[in-house]
Amino acid sequence: MAWRSHGTDNDSLVNALVRNRVLKTRKVIDAMRRVDRGNYCVPFSGQSAYEDHPLPIGSNATISAPHMHAACLELVHDRVTENARVLDVGSGSGYLTSCFAAMLDHHDSYAAGSIRAEEVEDRRPGLSDTKYPIVVGVEHIKDLVDFSIENTKKDGKGKYLQGPEPLVVLKVADGREGYPPYAPYDVIHVGAASPEKPTKLLKQLANGGRLVCPVGRGWQSLRVYDKDDKGRVTEFDAMGVTYVPLTGAKEQMGRASASSGSFW
Ligand code: SAH
Repeated sequence: MAWRSHGTDNDSLVNALVRNRVLKTRKVIDAMRRVDRGNYCVPFSGQSAYEDHPLPIGSNATISAPHMHAACLELVHDRVTENARVLDVGSGSGYLTSCFAAMLDHHDSYAAGSIRAEEVEDRRPGLSDTKYPIVVGVEHIKDLVDFSIENTKKDGKGKYLQGPEPLVVLKVADGREGYPPYAPYDVIHVGAASPEKPTKLLKQLANGGRLVCPVGRGWQSLRVYDKDDKGRVTEFDAMGVTYVPLTGAKEQMGRASASSGSFW
């Protein structure tokens, strides 16, 4: 399968993902065009940000490969509706968090700061009947959260982080616990592998929501969990993948570096 979708800039990378049929949906394609992967990679890391590989971002973490980001966004796009709540566990570089935000900000009104404060005053943590969208990125290494905030600003999306009720929230926290203050979520994406079924995260999934998570030890399967309107969960296997494990911060910093986020 011709799944390595290399580009030389962001547009040609997205074009290659479309050509190889990894990217299919207009909303996902638009979002990936509006989030420049070059702004979420370490400058001068020796490899191009627009090639289809995971790349090191420090702290023994990597930004996942573009084909993996694309595949995960394709799996959840129909749940990223107007006022959706999204949780991105292991947000690392902040790239995917920004893609989710771009999917919610079709008209760039948040990016331009044209959503006024009084329009968002009703959005409060813990409301399940949310009136406004939010994307929460949770990452357990503080340096990476700082990196992701810088990257979001570099990408011209600093407004996403501003105001009393921002569109994007990037937090230092152990993602194995999810992020209760904004639960339940319509979409939960997990960017590192859970050794077993992520039951704590499933509790924070809204009825009608979808959770995507690599599950297993060593080689993993990308599991997709759907919660129906009565709260019943069904699941299926989307593909085989290799991700770094969801772990404790100390454990991660003691580990030899590894790459994560590609098909096998
Ligand atoms: N999706 C991100 C990062 C993928 S690498 C990107 O593409 O940029 C996996 C990330 O999960 C790393 O940044 C790692 O630090 C983070 N991680 C691992 N265990 C975690 C945990 N328990 N809680 C939060 N983040 C975790």
